[in-house]
Amino acid sequence: MFTLDDLPYAYNALEPFIDERTMQIHHDKHHAAYVKNLNDALSGKEELMALDPVAIIRDLAKVPEDIRTKVRNNCGGHVNHTMFWEIMTPNGGGEPKGDLAAAITGSFGSFADFQAKFAASGIGRFGSGWVWLVPEGKSLVITDTPNQDSPYMEGKTPILGLDVWEHAYYLKYQNLRADYIAAWWHVVNWAEVEKRFAAATT
Ligand code: MN
Repeated sequence: MFTLDDLPYAYNALEPFIDERTMQIHHDKHHAAYVKNLNDALSGKEELMALDPVAIIRDLAKVPEDIRTKVRNNCGGHVNHTMFWEIMTPNGGGEPKGDLAAAITGSFGSFADFQAKFAASGIGRFGSGWVWLVPEGKSLVITDTPNQDSPYMEGKTPILGLDVWEHAYYLKYQNLRADYIAAWWHVVNWAEVEKRFAAATT
């Protein structure tokens, strides 16, 4: 049985960048629905139920074909949102430090160049999906995926993910996805991303 953890901060903690109502609906309705639908899909499949959700997404071939799409979408939604809440924090923003800062500069030229490229991927992703920062060897790449797909499905480990589904921003930003992305940088939890970078590259 998969469960939905509480947010690691209050619903209004990311104001004014991400509004309280969006956080409530996003976590309590959207993320909750992914968890419920995942449990429904895997009902009676004890071996799969016992796995870490990331392990399921990394190896969807082991999921029976008749439920694979439902698991891909809903386990993906569960994994992606669990990460999303953790890589945000009140009093976030600024710039990463240490090895991650060096890898960003080495891969993109500067932190500002990285932000511009990441934002452009988010704006350019047609429809619903995610933008990712992914270690590849000693460098970092930006990728984007549709729906609830993720780099885990290709054997990679994302260290930062941005939800660009309309449900993530429409109440406050309406059609202005670029404004949402510009605001989102203020709540990125770089200490958490640095931790994930270290874990993924050692
Ligand atoms: Mn979402």
